[in-house]
Amino acid sequence: MTELPDFNDPSLPTIVVGHPAIVNFRGEEVPVPPLLLEEAMKELDRLENELDRGEISSETGKRLLRQVYDVVDRVGEVVSPGMSCHSGCSACCRVMVATTASEAALIDERMKRGREEERLVWKQGIENRNALLESLSSRTIPPSDLTTFKGLVDTCEMYEHENQPCPFLGADRLCQIYEERPLLCRICWVLTDPADCLPGEGPPVKFRTRVFEKAHALCGAISATHFGDDRVSPIPYWFRSDG
Ligand code: SF4
Ligand code: SF4
Repeated sequence: MTELPDFNDPSLPTIVVGHPAIVNFRGEEVPVPPLLLEEAMKELDRLENELDRGEISSETGKRLLRQVYDVVDRVGEVVSPGMSCHSGCSACCRVMVATTASEAALIDERMKRGREEERLVWKQGIENRNALLESLSSRTIPPSDLTTFKGLVDTCEMYEHENQPCPFLGADRLCQIYEERPLLCRICWVLTDPADCLPGEGPPVKFRTRVFEKAHALCGAISATHFGDDRVSPIPYWFRSDG
């Protein structure tokens, strides 16, 4: 059984943000119904209990991950009117997004469902970003391992300065794999001015709940249990030709 931290610990704050209150940059209070968070935590607890019951397989892992996504999306739908994020606002799609094996598997499924011309553009973007990632990771001493959290941390600032969009960001600044985007893209809610998300600005103040923290831990646990893979890597790195 994969042990997760106790996110139900009452000493943990329900909301962790850099502001004293849940107020956005427009000065509006953001309502976060406690019952919604409570029910979301119960659902995540249920998924945690299901983690290693039944068949251990990538199909089970993908099913569980989709259920985790459903839980965080339900919270996202309720809080989104109070957030700064809106369609086409995409500075956050120019940072290094850390993903696990199970999330990469859903992105892989989405790519396979894409049209041929889309797949070609994605493939080219992935190759370009991976060449950049390899080049940046070789500049640290010692070179950064982009399959570890430390390697990502050591390289992410350099990557952000390159101002490169995610390979799945369309020319219309919309996510082309929206329904299968990874967890971090689903829980990246910001209370401050969207301008604070631009490279070199900010830092933006993010909205956080225990629900998101637990969902994040579950993504790792699902990947370890059902994919036998506890690595974490930038999105394109999972799809490198020699990977
Ligand atoms: S995280 Fe920042 S850049 Fe991304 S949608 Fe929200 S406000 Fe816009
Ligand atoms: S997967 Fe989609 S939402 Fe996430 S960084 Fe890429 S384009 Fe943006």
